Amino acid sequence: MAFFSKKTREPLSVQVKGKQLNCGVCGNDHFFNKRIQLNTSIFTFLNIDWLNKNATCFVCSNCTHIIWFES
Ligand SMILES: [Zn+2]
Repeated sequence: MAFFSKKTREPLSVQVKGKQLNCGVCGNDHFFNKRIQLNTSIFTFLNIDWLNKNATCFVCSNCTHIIWFES
């Protein structure tokens, strides 16, 4: 699979509210940071327009599990 371009940045350790963020699947503590625009027609179709916002995603560098934060 090719989720990331060849210019992939180094994964970072992340703290949320002063606590170390760990992947809920594999326990890894390093993530790739991505900013996502959630303004998609599928959310409108599903009548969940409150998701039409920006989000910050942290993608586990080990298993690619995604942790979302509204921002
Ligand atoms: Zn993981």
